[in-house]
Amino acid sequence: MTQPPESPCCALCGQPGTVTVDPPRRTIARGADPSDSSFSVIAVLPDVLLCEEHAEDLTSRLTIGWCDDERCRLYGESGEASPCGEPFRKLKR
Ligand SMILES: [Zn+2]
Ligand SMILES: [Zn+2]
Repeated sequence: MTQPPESPCCALCGQPGTVTVDPPRRTIARGADPSDSSFSVIAVLPDVLLCEEHAEDLTSRLTIGWCDDERCRLYGESGEASPCGEPFRKLKR
């Protein structure tokens, strides 16, 4: 049997991810140059994978954020620091 090279894990804690949820929003404007508003690229965000525990929290107190730094492009808990050092930004509907 072949196993996938990386087992999918929870976006928030790294435990095995068993629940796939829709992100708060599906697209994000990614401007190459922030000072040039005429240039924007719409990026489509993937599904969010969570463990059962965090999937439950999501309905009550948890807010999913996204870091769009090219080193990350990851989901995490909104307001928490992402691996690149910037906080995960809340995704508004
Ligand atoms: Zn988790
Ligand atoms: Zn980051």
